[in-house]
Parts: sequence; C-alpha cells; structure tokens
Amino acid sequence: MSETNQYEKLKQCKNIEVIYNTILEKICGDDYVKTVKIKNVNTGIVNQLNIDGVFIFIGMKPNNSFIMNDVINNFGYVIVNPISMSTKIPGIFACGDIKQNKIKQIITATADGAIAILNAKSYIDSLNI
Ligand SMILES: Cc1cc2nc3c(=O)[nH]c(=O)nc-3n(C[C@H](O)[C@H](O)[C@H](O)COP(=O)(O)OP(=O)(O)OC[C@H]3O[C@@H](n4cnc5c(N)ncnc54)[C@H](O)[C@@H]3O)c2cc1C
Repeated sequence: MSETNQYEKLKQCKNIEVIYNTILEKICGDDYVKTVKIKNVNTGIVNQLNIDGVFIFIGMKPNNSFIMNDVINNFGYVIVNPISMSTKIPGIFACGDIKQNKIKQIITATADGAIAILNAKSYIDSLNI
C-alpha cells in the first residue's frame, strides 16, 4: 500500500486527530512517556500534549541513494534472489528492509542477513583471491 493510500485511510479514522504543519520537538517522561512538545512550523508556537506512547513512523520511502539503479524496482527496493539474497550484479547482495519484500521485520531482516553473509562468503571464496 502506498503512503498516499495509507494517508487517505488514516483521515477516515474517527479516533485519530491529524495535526498538520507540526514537528515533534521533545519526548518527555520518566520511566514512561508522559508528554510530547510539538511545534507548529508556521507559527513557531510550541504546545504540550499528554500522551501514553510514541510511535515514530519513518515513512515508506527506501533510503536507496547509494544503490545502483540496475538492481532496484519501481518502488526503490532492491531485487534479490530470495534463496541467496544476491542481486543480478555478481558480488552485490541485499538484505532487510531495503530488499523487495512485503514483510519488514527484525526477524526477517536478520534471517536475510545470515543468508546474505554466507552467500557473500561463498562468492568471495569462489574468486580464489
Ligand atoms: C518505529 C518502528 C518500529 C518498528 N517496530 C518493529 C517491531 O516491533 N518489530 C519488528 O520486528 N520490526 C519493527 N520495525 C521494523 C524493523 O525496525 C526493521 O524491519 C529492521 O530494523 C530492518 O533492519 P535493516 O537492517 O534492514 O534496516 P535498518 O535497521 O534500517 O538498518 C539500516 C542501517 O543502514 C544505515 N545506512 C543507511 N544508509 C547508509 C549508507 N549510505 N551508508 C552506511 N549506512 C547506511 C542506517 O543508518 C541504518 O543503521 C519497526 C520499524 C520502525 C521504523
């Protein structure tokens, strides 16, 4: 689902208030989060909100600026062979959230990492250098 679709869905939720033009300045609390300070970027006014938790959503755009275009799909994710985590460029492997995959979780990223590193080692060994 694209970010636009998610945003449209979110706007329809009756129990969610969207606060526009606002950035998070500070998360406050002791053992637990209690309040956040948020700043309106147009007015500069800082308000305090009483809250029970914070979830930082970083968006859906992959950070792929350092990856060559030949191996990324239309959404910016790296296309890999799911068995080996290899890309179509010999010696280039990808794993975790950056790779083309629906599930983006720690357990899948670490499993991918183990597969990628072992196959990368085999690749290096095969070069006999
Ligand atoms: C708010 C939030 C909550 C989440 N909660 C859960 C959860 O409860 N359970 C769960 O399983 N998963 C959760 N996830 C997903 C999980 O964090 C990811 O699936 C996992 O971290 C992916 O690991 P990764 O190594 O692929 O990527 P990342 O953890 O994003 O690591 C990529 C690393 O590469 C670095 N990097 C980027 N560009 C460069 C560069 N050019 N050069 C060098 N380094 C670079 C980054 O700084 C970063 O350290 C959550 C994610 C978010 C954002």
